[in-house]
Amino acid sequence: MKVLVPVKRVIDYNVKPRVKMDGSGVDLANVKMSMNPFDEIAVEEAIRLKEKGVATEIVAVSIGEAKAQETLRTALAMGADRAILIVSETEVEPLGVAKLLAKVVAEEAPGLVILGKQAIDDDSNQTGQMLAALTGRPQGTFASKVEVEGDTVKVTREVDGGLETVSLKTPAIITTDLRLNEPRYASLPNIMKAKSKPLAQKTPADYGVDVTPRLKTLKVSEPPKRQAGIKVADVDELAAKLKALGVAA
Ligand code: AMP
Repeated sequence: MKVLVPVKRVIDYNVKPRVKMDGSGVDLANVKMSMNPFDEIAVEEAIRLKEKGVATEIVAVSIGEAKAQETLRTALAMGADRAILIVSETEVEPLGVAKLLAKVVAEEAPGLVILGKQAIDDDSNQTGQMLAALTGRPQGTFASKVEVEGDTVKVTREVDGGLETVSLKTPAIITTDLRLNEPRYASLPNIMKAKSKPLAQKTPADYGVDVTPRLKTLKVSEPPKRQAGIKVADVDELAAKLKALGVAA
């Protein structure tokens, strides 16, 4: 079974984002960029399926600027077999990404597509669901456990009240939650090996997909600065202050 893993290049999760002076977006100049953390989990899950003999080939795909090549090389160094980069110098919204992925799915016919549940830059949480709708495939979102048995995938999902297990027939779409696994680091020999793994370059036009944005960002602003706190002498004073604020009885 072939597994397709879409990986997005995003601002590194350790970086504190700075908003551009004109409020038009986040300043990405000279900022460390990395693979979206949920996508690392998706790559790891695909590799584990390959190690179990369930997956036969892992194809990583990214839509973004030419530098997204680095993100794909990371996926290849972790253990993906080949990669596809769909180059777009302008930001592609989730619907555009899902439409492109639907074309790749039609071409590659993967048994599973494993995406992250959300990209930490736009926090959309839309692409996997849109891809499921566009391809007519069943979806198991927010997966904390994935078990493949024949042509069935059991996905344990993290929902508000606890865990829910759903059963899907492959081909299917899965999105990863944080607790699915702990992604491995790529070893130095694997980083070297990844340099010679195949990486195909395409454009949205090659797939006949119009990725013109449908949304206009009006304003991006920093969260309000936190007010300084106060020190209290003891528990009684704390209780009195909370009572005065109406947060304690
Ligand atoms: P989002 O819907 O933007 O929160 O993204 C959810 C997931 O879709 C991500 O974790 C990725 O697996 C995938 N995805 C979104 N945008 C891209 C992109 N530009 N290239 C590759 N995968 C993407």
